[in-house]
Amino acid sequence: MRVPGCRECERLWEKYTDAMFDFGKINRESRLAQLRRNSPEISALLRKGVEAAAYWRDAALTRLRQHEATHQIRSAAAS
Ligand SMILES: [Zn+2]
Repeated sequence: MRVPGCRECERLWEKYTDAMFDFGKINRESRLAQLRRNSPEISALLRKGVEAAAYWRDAALTRLRQHEATHQIRSAAAS
């Protein structure tokens, strides 16, 4: 649940979409490297990059979900 007008929601969404974009980009590069049969060193580096990007994407999503949960608690208390 994204709350309109909440700056923290906007900020965390932006971080999450950035992280998703980064993940998509490096994931694509890694696949291309496999198709092109690049050196194992480069493939390994790219795989590590994909893992790191996935980690940051998940971390951004977790922070977003945790922040969104605080809205739900607040609106539940208000009603
Ligand atoms: Zn918010």
